[in-house]
Amino acid sequence: MTDKMMIIDPHVHMTSRTTDDYQAMAAAGVVAIIEPSFWLGQPRTRVGSFQDYFSSLVGWEPFRASQFGIKHYCTIGLNSKEANNEALAEQVIDLLPLYVHKENVVAIGEIGYDDQTPAEDKYFRMQLDLAKELDMMVQVHTPHRDKKAGTLRSMDVCLEHGLDPANVVIDHNNEETVRDVLDRGFIAAFTIYPKTKMGNERMVEVVRQYGSTNIIVDSSADWGVSDPLAVPKTAALMLKRGIDRADVVKTCYQNALDAFGKNGKMKEEHWLKPGGVNQAQLYNDNSVLRGQEPRVDADQIV
Ligand SMILES: [Zn+2]
Repeated sequence: MTDKMMIIDPHVHMTSRTTDDYQAMAAAGVVAIIEPSFWLGQPRTRVGSFQDYFSSLVGWEPFRASQFGIKHYCTIGLNSKEANNEALAEQVIDLLPLYVHKENVVAIGEIGYDDQTPAEDKYFRMQLDLAKELDMMVQVHTPHRDKKAGTLRSMDVCLEHGLDPANVVIDHNNEETVRDVLDRGFIAAFTIYPKTKMGNERMVEVVRQYGSTNIIVDSSADWGVSDPLAVPKTAALMLKRGIDRADVVKTCYQNALDAFGKNGKMKEEHWLKPGGVNQAQLYNDNSVLRGQEPRVDADQIV
């Protein structure tokens, strides 16, 4: 539908999605994804649960994506919601340095505010300092309640901690926040929700009005009602509504690569010469198959 356009979804929680989703995403042109660390619905009670989750984001999930020809990256951080469990939050912060240097970790994220509590503020700031120290990108989750004030505050705090706005992706924008985010030099990401909030029809109008510079489209698909094909569907709709192909490429591919590729870990060569899929591979003796014939592309047979 988008004439073989390559797509990057820089915000999708694949841990919560199925192999059917991976298959459909690959078929729709998704070549690379970024999975931010976030909360899982059920609050975690032990630091070990975070450790296993982070390990999965740098281990099992990249393997699973590779089995469908998709390159998987992630962001590591303590999410705002669970920052409110301070005893646990302290331990999670201590864990972060063990993961941020892994080869598929492209940013600290997703961090920021949920209810804008003092604890959220404290751990947001600590992680901004970590990002600054390591010269890493930051992926900011803005609150769904009190969106505008929370977005402005997130940016103020990033600046206060000396971050370059060009190294900060502010996510979950809408028509009320986009102008401020772009004017301040931050990167504005938009999560496309299937039925509510920011739908893809509205996204087309945002790109028509604000252009494609520093604007990124993502799905944020997770365990809730969401659509892992939101980015390719929005790309297709943009083309249909007369948005220039160059602008669609920027918002649905290139801008995400330019931003998250800054530390050199995310590279186009990872999917331009992919070498095909080899489902005969195992991860810790496990495969994604259940008795099916593994797909092994010709490039993989040596
Ligand atoms: Zn998310």
